[in-house]
Amino acid sequence: MPFNALGLSPTVVIAANKKLYLQPTPIQIAAIPVVLRGGDVLAQAATGSGKTAAYALPLLQLVQEKQRKVLVLVPTRELAVQVGEEIQGVVKYLPTPIKVVSVYGGVSINPQMMALRGYADVLVATPGRLLDLIGQNAIKPDHFNTLVLDEADRLLDMGFSDEINRILALLPTQRQNLFFSATFPEDVNALAAGMLTTPTRLVM
Ligand code: AMP
Repeated sequence: MPFNALGLSPTVVIAANKKLYLQPTPIQIAAIPVVLRGGDVLAQAATGSGKTAAYALPLLQLVQEKQRKVLVLVPTRELAVQVGEEIQGVVKYLPTPIKVVSVYGGVSINPQMMALRGYADVLVATPGRLLDLIGQNAIKPDHFNTLVLDEADRLLDMGFSDEINRILALLPTQRQNLFFSATFPEDVNALAAGMLTTPTRLVM
């Protein structure tokens, strides 16, 4: 099945192909149509499955067409950088500019504030640094109407439960939620249940 059979626009398909994503992976085949129609997703997907592009490709289309603003929460600095680079690697082939910024702890906050200048179309963030930036008015949480939790099990393993709940309380209640985790222990299920609305469940 080619990417253009999943409902993606020609500009997004061309960008994906230029990044050498030629055939969608199973998680991409399952997730892309659901994301495009605005549904919540609960996906069991491991690293290496192509999960990043599974949410990034359709969400970039929604950013282009519906002015969506996307917040991606990730557990680690390494993942923040990697996910940001992967999304940027598609965005650079799109005809319209989309601002993608990665923010994470363990480094100076000032360059991140400069990169944001109050605004991002797609913000990839670790939870603690995101709350710091919100506290310093460097980013407004209420414009993010799309939320991705990437590696939700690792977010909880790293002790980010309180931070995630504080962030959830600051986001608009009307939003699309995409929840990705490799494993589903009790605490991960509880977090998903509290944040998703009639999600489409995908097990890869
Ligand atoms: P992920 O599971 O998101 O960490 O992705 C694993 C790797 O697969 C990354 O290096 C992606 O750039 C790559 N990738 C994702 N989707 C595709 C695709 N449809 N075709 C080829 N490579 C892909």
